[in-house]
Amino acid sequence: MVERLGVGRALQSGTRMIIDCHCHAGKGDGLTGPWDTAAPLEKYMRWAANAGINRTAIFAAFHSDYSVANQEVARIVASRPNRFYGLAFVHPARDRGRVRDLVQVAVEQYGFVGIKVHRYDARLTREICDVARAFCVPILYDPIGEVSIVELVAAEYPDVSFIIPHMGSFSDDWRAQHSLIDYLVRHPNIYTDTSGVRRFELLEQAVQRAGARKILFGSDGPWLHPGVELEKIRVLGLSPADEQLVLGGNFLRLISRRRHQPLALPAAQPAPAPLQAEYRDPWHYHHFAT
Ligand SMILES: [Zn+2]
Repeated sequence: MVERLGVGRALQSGTRMIIDCHCHAGKGDGLTGPWDTAAPLEKYMRWAANAGINRTAIFAAFHSDYSVANQEVARIVASRPNRFYGLAFVHPARDRGRVRDLVQVAVEQYGFVGIKVHRYDARLTREICDVARAFCVPILYDPIGEVSIVELVAAEYPDVSFIIPHMGSFSDDWRAQHSLIDYLVRHPNIYTDTSGVRRFELLEQAVQRAGARKILFGSDGPWLHPGVELEKIRVLGLSPADEQLVLGGNFLRLISRRRHQPLALPAAQPAPAPLQAEYRDPWHYHHFAT
């Protein structure tokens, strides 16, 4: 599967391939907004072709059953295997106890290369990080501004790569995005993508302080225009080598360690540790003062 996608060759040749690492695809089964209703790719494919984007990593929209949603993404990937990479969407709470099974099917049968988690569903869990470690695949985790978890996962799972999209906040939470830069600088396994980031100076600062190796080009298509998002990378004015890292080299490196035969796969957990539904600091008086 790795060879079919040319990861080895692409890494060796220093190819000029442009890879969009963040795009949604397929139908959601909700009707709240585009994010859980539909992520149609027709327009995206035209936009991406015009922008010179060669490949795209896709994952589901929000869905009430990610085994179903991942299956649809797998069909799309299989329809153009040299155009798409797949990421397995998992729900930290609803999929508790079956994350291993979901990811195993996605990696072994679908040829997927990573895991997607969103805090809108629930917070990232150890179960998911353990599975990512076993398969040596990156986790793309949107913390919706709660970037403090990065400090924990970076230390607890130094061998797992975490891509924190939107510099930590799709909704431009400046404090979160600014904090994320510090995490990028200090932790070798923490990365970000550029999708939806509007404050250009933060992108500049991230590249200057953390280096081009820590930044991945992503668009958040099909809802954002991949050509518009790509232009943000162009105007950073990076050296050709650094630009190539951002545009595809970093993504290829992060997915290159993937294993079909998982390392020390954790046993299925019949009773996983309880989830923290809300953030509560045991030493913070106000969290208990009501
Ligand atoms: Zn997204």
